Amino acid sequence: MREDWKALHAIGVMGGTFDPIHNGHLFAAEAVRQGFGLDVVIFIPAARPPHKNASEVSDPETRYVMVELATADNPYFVVSRIELDRPGPSHTVDTIAALKENTGPDTDIYFITGADAMQDLYKWKDHDTLLLLCKIVAVARPGYSLKVTESLRSHLGDALWARIYPFEVPALAISSSEIRERVRTGKSIKYLVPPTVEHYIRKVGLYVK
Ligand code: NAP
Repeated sequence: MREDWKALHAIGVMGGTFDPIHNGHLFAAEAVRQGFGLDVVIFIPAARPPHKNASEVSDPETRYVMVELATADNPYFVVSRIELDRPGPSHTVDTIAALKENTGPDTDIYFITGADAMQDLYKWKDHDTLLLLCKIVAVARPGYSLKVTESLRSHLGDALWARIYPFEVPALAISSSEIRERVRTGKSIKYLVPPTVEHYIRKVGLYVK
């Protein structure tokens, strides 16, 4: 963790499995950074997502390398190994609590992730504590942010619900599952992921079966 984060006003934490990271994620992070006036966006690849079997996702180090490659050209983007280096399931509340120890008391943290992933937020470990530690930006392609709707609100109550900000991003028509399928079926992924990520996927033979 950087020492000088204590002086920052607002930090974005971009959480995802990133299998692989794609241009939709990158565009969303940049749009949220600008829209919310964030000083920096920390990308945190989920090492062991609690809601997935390890066999369903690529090796955490491989996904981490792709996130490093994809974000290298943006001075506002950094990547954290916090969930890779912590044993056990990657619960978001543990990640944000650890981050809080390195930020100032007045630093706002915005956890950014897909609106679809938010649907089950009320089942996440200590989700009420999580929503007190940070605000959440639920990104979705236009029209789909409405999915973060009444059922979640009824589970959370109005006060916690008010800490969730739906945010529409046109480029999120791209999805990681579609990219994996395109590679598997021999289709191009050019312009869907940064060239460095495409080269890495080809080099190590990811997603071919
Ligand atoms: P997921 O279930 O694989 O994804 C659900 C949807 O959200 C997909 O359409 C996915 O698209 C999209 N999405 C995921 N991350 C995104 C991002 N950063 N920006 C834009 N769209 C995104 O979700 P996941 O990636 O495994 O998990 C998302 C985050 O929630 C991670 O940080 C994870 O650790 C956290 N989480 C925490 C808990 C917990 O603490 N108990 C439980 C579940 C999830 P793509 O496939 O294209 O990314």
